[in-house]
Amino acid sequence: MELSTPVQFLKGVGPQLGSVLNKRGITTVGDLMHHYPRAFEDRRAARSIDSLQDGDLVSMTAKIRFVKAIPMGRSSRKIYDVGITDPTGIIHCKFFRVPYRGYFDRFQPDQEVRVVGKVINYRGRLEFHHPDLRAVDDSEDNKDAVIPIYPEIETITTTRLGKLIQGAFKELAKEKAFQEPFPKPMLRENNLITQEEALRLLHFPPADSARDFNQRKSAAHHRVIFEEFFWLELSLAFKRAGFKKDKAIPIHSKGVLAQKLEAALPFSLTGAQKRAYDEILADLFKHEPMSRLVQGDVGSGKTLVAFMAACAAIESNQQVCLMAPTEILSEQHLRNARKVLEPLGVRIEILTGKTKAAERADILERLIKGEIDFLIGTHALLEDPVQFLNLNLVIIDEQHRFGVEQRAKLKRKGVSPHFLIMTATPIPRTLAMTVYGDLDCSVIDEMPPGRSPIQTRVIFDSKRVQALDFMLQHLERGRQAYIVYPLVEESEKIDLKNAHDEFAKLKATFPKVSFGLLHGKMKSDEKDAVMNSFRKGEIQVLVSTTVIEVGVDVPNANMMIIEHAERFGLSQLHQLRGRVGRGEHKSFCILIMGNAVSEEARERTRFMETTTDGFKISEFDLELRGPGEFIGRKQSGLPGFRMANLVTDQEILKSARNAAFALMESDPKLTRPEHRFFRGELQKILGPEGTLLIG
Ligand code: ADP
Ligand code: MG
Repeated sequence: MELSTPVQFLKGVGPQLGSVLNKRGITTVGDLMHHYPRAFEDRRAARSIDSLQDGDLVSMTAKIRFVKAIPMGRSSRKIYDVGITDPTGIIHCKFFRVPYRGYFDRFQPDQEVRVVGKVINYRGRLEFHHPDLRAVDDSEDNKDAVIPIYPEIETITTTRLGKLIQGAFKELAKEKAFQEPFPKPMLRENNLITQEEALRLLHFPPADSARDFNQRKSAAHHRVIFEEFFWLELSLAFKRAGFKKDKAIPIHSKGVLAQKLEAALPFSLTGAQKRAYDEILADLFKHEPMSRLVQGDVGSGKTLVAFMAACAAIESNQQVCLMAPTEILSEQHLRNARKVLEPLGVRIEILTGKTKAAERADILERLIKGEIDFLIGTHALLEDPVQFLNLNLVIIDEQHRFGVEQRAKLKRKGVSPHFLIMTATPIPRTLAMTVYGDLDCSVIDEMPPGRSPIQTRVIFDSKRVQALDFMLQHLERGRQAYIVYPLVEESEKIDLKNAHDEFAKLKATFPKVSFGLLHGKMKSDEKDAVMNSFRKGEIQVLVSTTVIEVGVDVPNANMMIIEHAERFGLSQLHQLRGRVGRGEHKSFCILIMGNAVSEEARERTRFMETTTDGFKISEFDLELRGPGEFIGRKQSGLPGFRMANLVTDQEILKSARNAAFALMESDPKLTRPEHRFFRGELQKILGPEGTLLIG
């Protein structure tokens, strides 16, 4: 048997069980080794309910008193509440989702169960949330050992999984199938036990290990977490080294053109803008290409900073391009550039999918002759016929939509141009190192003065009429508004208001108001048409799903109503809210919550009333919802973690990062024999994008 042996060939598995495992991503015996226990049960440490304390991780037996399904408001979701007792008391086990269909059917009153979980103080009462709960099985052996509890896979119980995994491990160990990725010096330097040792400890926990293991504080946990982070950091270190290895042409600007731009502005730059600009200028002076990300809230003035950087290149007779994810945003950038850069003699053009053939031919010709200084556009800029005379600065708006491959395409259009990337997604500082670890970062954490902050109110559904009334008052004064819904189509089970239906209802209720509808299923030119009439003021109220573009700027819109606000992550609410508060008028954001939402959801949503600082909101969101919100994005290129936790394992993350970056420093191409394994893994992690960097 090898690690790569398909799991269905394992004794006791077969095709049926095999396909269940496959569905959960376990295709090989090796994958099965990484199905880690989620808790460790210490059979010797009997506990009574009255001895439990907040935060205890316990394993105990008790009897079922009741199993209750509590409906959640008007939705079809239910909370399950399982009461368990022993002679000393009763405690509730809460389940906010059903582990699998029929899970609760197997528990009957008076049945003896084993509970493994963490005691939580929830509003003054001790409870278990999502404990491992199962019938006591008399046939179990090892009565005084520590038993690993595995996350169940559909109907495969933890006991069955344990037997499979342990059996496979023994055989693999016997055949010396485990290959240690880290060379010995690295193990030593980083205080790591081998992978095989770690797996042995996790799947066969020693007698006195339950406490440390349950707190994820064992040498085995350290090893596994370190390795998970290491692959991530190695890929970041590698990308970064790939970006940096080329020789770039420095841009030696005296900053004269940028000074002229600054002098023509009716305001002065914020401190944060100056700092970001200085950081960019310093990069541009170097012989290695800049890879800098400018992070800042919507409206913090990133575009202006990018224009000043563009001035530096243009002043040195080099070309600049700015790529935005949509036509709407490209056109918006064009308007701004025409306003502030054209008066300084900068020659600007736009190229998108909409550009007519004749005009396009003309632009391409002037571009290669160097008669255009600044080309703005969409993905159309990536096409092969787009050739510059001397492109040396590439600006990308909205980082997350561009992958390494697109970047490589753009790169080939210059010798090795400098890259400036702008994103309006504030990300917690604790995560930035991971998510943007391959880029240098500038943070614009200061808003231009004189903006009246958006006033945010959270209200219940019952006050909707008043909210719409308030909106009407502003429409009468000539303003515009957005109404945002979480979904487009009627979903049978969830009675969310959807954009389609509400659009129809609103039109019928307010015949004098002009409404427009925008949703993700529309074609991009349909979307553009709607956005354009909204910008022109022909549409007063834009009813939409969450597709309203980040960065879309309609200063006259000063009101946003978000329905079912409790369904959104706070960071997403923040992004949406950023569509208003862009003009001279005081702006409002009304978050409508269903009447039946939980207390927690209410409190979470109310946080939006307290601040408009995107960084604060993202930190709060991270604490509440974990990092999924930030790293779930498709193009973030982050591998999933089975054990590591970006929030609680920061220390290990740092050491893994140091190890990975040091490795790249000492052996940039990973050609040494002891690093061959890394090279192979890296290729797997990076996928096709990897060949661009490795090759
Ligand atoms: P972002 O791209 O970060 O969302 P923009 O660059 O589009 O922000 O700026 C938003 C608005 O603020 C623009 O109208 C811009 O002219 C204005 N602005 C930028 N910097 C300043 C500043 N320092 N003081 C006042 N207004 C500014
Ligand atoms: Mg912008």
